[in-house]
Amino acid sequence: MTTTPLTDGFGRAFHYLRLSVEDACNFRCLYCLPGGYHRAEELPPLTVDEIRRLARAFAGMGLWKIRLTGGEPTVRADIAAIAEAVARVPGIRKVSLSTNGYRLVELAAPLRRAGVSSVNVSVDSLDAARFARITGQDKLKAVWAGVERCLELGLETKINVVLMKDLNDQELGRFFELAKKLPLSVRFIELMPTGENSNLFAKSHLSGTVVVERLLSEKWTEKPRPEGGGPARLFGSLDSLGSVGVIAPYSKDFCATCNRLRVTSRGGLRLCLFAEADFSLRHLLQSDDQTPELQRTVRDLIGKKEVSHYLPEGKIGNVKHFAMMGG
Ligand code: SAM
Ligand code: SF4
Repeated sequence: MTTTPLTDGFGRAFHYLRLSVEDACNFRCLYCLPGGYHRAEELPPLTVDEIRRLARAFAGMGLWKIRLTGGEPTVRADIAAIAEAVARVPGIRKVSLSTNGYRLVELAAPLRRAGVSSVNVSVDSLDAARFARITGQDKLKAVWAGVERCLELGLETKINVVLMKDLNDQELGRFFELAKKLPLSVRFIELMPTGENSNLFAKSHLSGTVVVERLLSEKWTEKPRPEGGGPARLFGSLDSLGSVGVIAPYSKDFCATCNRLRVTSRGGLRLCLFAEADFSLRHLLQSDDQTPELQRTVRDLIGKKEVSHYLPEGKIGNVKHFAMMGG
């Protein structure tokens, strides 16, 4: 098995895979699945064996971090088995999960035992009524109990907040207080446009600089990016146990630090969140002896990765919503 790192023509090395294991979701977030989930695919999602082969092939090319995402990954009954299969692959040093948190109370401990060390939970509001309005589910209490369970178990815990004008930007102070009081990272993500959220995007998109300016005015200071960290700018303060991050895809140089690839729940390689298409790898996940061919195919496809997502130019590729491929 080769260990030459995966790099593209722009000198970027890819050590991080965001793997969607399920495109279905039980929430109806305004920015993602406002009309709820409708199955568009006939094929079932990748099996545990297919996922194991995929992880092994990527680990053989220097990739060491895998995030399990969706849709909602925890709607799969075998999510702990998936996590364990991935965590056992030689070379994989970190397995993370992105979740809406509705099953975290019961799942946090089994996922930790399976090898998950870090959990990102979407919590777009700390107000129950607003949370229900944004997500279509009155489940803040259950989700928050899941966050507390992760903290008790010592899991690295991040709260993802999609920043939206008039929907949750009035809560910046409450989120900052949370990051002071608890050892977790609150990360504000700029709302991104998709095929299905253009009205909301036009009304509610707010630049992450609003958060950065407020943090700086409240004496938070910017921290260096951790190894393998994403594009978030991170801030800490002397009296905080946690940190605040800002993910601003419209900012200059956002793509220059790109270190990630995506695979959809049906095995499609996505070279960029806003790509025009996926490249199916599933036919190369059917037996262990296909690994070399799978690796050659991925290396060839990386050559097609573009230098930028071209979001500021108005390009959003074929993205209907992020539940398609994990955000
Ligand atoms: N269901 C899980 C969750 O909500 O965390 C995992 C999948 S979700 C697609 C992954 C992340 O993408 C979440 O943090 C979600 O808030 C974010 N997201 C989805 N649509 C988005 C959009 N249009 N703009 C910015 N972030 C988005
Ligand atoms: Fe579901 Fe996550 Fe999309 Fe919300 S953001 S609808 S929880 S996939």
